[in-house]
Amino acid sequence: MTSNAELFSAAQAVIPGGVDSPVRAYGSVGGVPRFIERAQGPWIWDAEGTRYVDLVCTWGPALLGHAHPEVVSAVQEAASKGLSFGAPTRTETELADAIIERMTPVEKVRFVSTGTEATMTAVRLARGATGRDVIIKFAGNYHGHSDALLAAAGSGVATAGLPGSAGVPAASTADTIVVDYNDVTALEEVFSERGDQIAAVIVESCPANMGVVPPEPGFNAAIRRLTKEHGTLMITDEVLTGFRCSASGFWGLQQRSGEDFAPDIFTFGKVVGGGMPLAALGGRAEIMDLLAPTGPVYQAGTLSGNPLATVAGVKTLHLADAGVYQRLDSRSEQWRGELASALDAAGVSYRLQNAGNLFSVFLGVEEPVRNYDDSKAQTAEAYTAFFHAMLEAGINLPPSCFEAWFLSDAHDDETFEVFRKALPKAAEAAAKI
Ligand code: PMP
Repeated sequence: MTSNAELFSAAQAVIPGGVDSPVRAYGSVGGVPRFIERAQGPWIWDAEGTRYVDLVCTWGPALLGHAHPEVVSAVQEAASKGLSFGAPTRTETELADAIIERMTPVEKVRFVSTGTEATMTAVRLARGATGRDVIIKFAGNYHGHSDALLAAAGSGVATAGLPGSAGVPAASTADTIVVDYNDVTALEEVFSERGDQIAAVIVESCPANMGVVPPEPGFNAAIRRLTKEHGTLMITDEVLTGFRCSASGFWGLQQRSGEDFAPDIFTFGKVVGGGMPLAALGGRAEIMDLLAPTGPVYQAGTLSGNPLATVAGVKTLHLADAGVYQRLDSRSEQWRGELASALDAAGVSYRLQNAGNLFSVFLGVEEPVRNYDDSKAQTAEAYTAFFHAMLEAGINLPPSCFEAWFLSDAHDDETFEVFRKALPKAAEAAAKI
């Protein structure tokens, strides 16, 4: 049997850092990343045959659990008919219909392969629609790795402690204004100075790449109000939250609580592709039709709307009925409650924040985490100790304190027991830091 360590060193010899996405390398928590052989339901198995309860869920997509039999068989059937055609297929329309049905402000959808492409295209579309160049993003919000959006980004950029990225020309971010999250006054100031130059405000509908940092009441509505007043488009990034926080994403959750911030453009990814490489942007028809070939804003992709990916997305959205979200919400409450009890018992200070079933814990902080600076004040070393103790006990947590934790509809009583039993020792390890 080849060990994780052997596989990691072989990978490092031919792949930078041994990984194809930085956080996977365990850079901030240290140690050897688990090389995964297979996954089923709530479980993943590494190359050494060790089984873990998975709370990463492929960073969000595995809403139904890994390798849901109906999704897998739909993909297998599609694969037997051809892997990619580079031509339109009926499942693209089916998936667009399924999205439009749940996200009512969306009238048209364009499919791409990654969340990065979706947000990059959304920004280009907003610039094309308004004839303006400036965009506003919020510190600690992550929208993928396109040049203009890498300023003060969360996720792997936060994990690595980077201000941004080398290789991004100053000119590419010159038109990106970064504002503190949850700071309406700062946003108002930028709009009062430069309102007529701003093409778009892009925001995670509920940020989950600096840990889970919900918008304060009225924050998304304030963005909507200011953007409308100034002829600016609002882009709501639901790549992570879309079809996960609820059937209609965080937008739907917030709408049900009485606040509607229907943006001009949504971006989706992760769950919408059912675990396959697929993402999308959607919005009102008049804006979406500005994309080529109907409009002047260019965007394209050899593998866009791939038949295997769209089939996985259609099947996943079909299976993700109201019962799935109800179960996930109550399960998340149960798991959060257990986590809180263990941390309390060990005397660890912490802050637990959630958006529907999505949650994360900030160790060493007690006050509400409202923005990136608050999030950076957490004790990363305590998370590292906690992470390794949990891993040792068979729980796969995100290898960074800046990432959200993901449950799936397949997490059951058996996995909860493993989690419950692992917690006291991990909480004590965190308490020692
Ligand atoms: N937007 C958000 C909110 C995300 O969480 C992510 C990825 N975690 C992206 C965009 C980028 O998506 P991808 O990794 O598919 O490029």
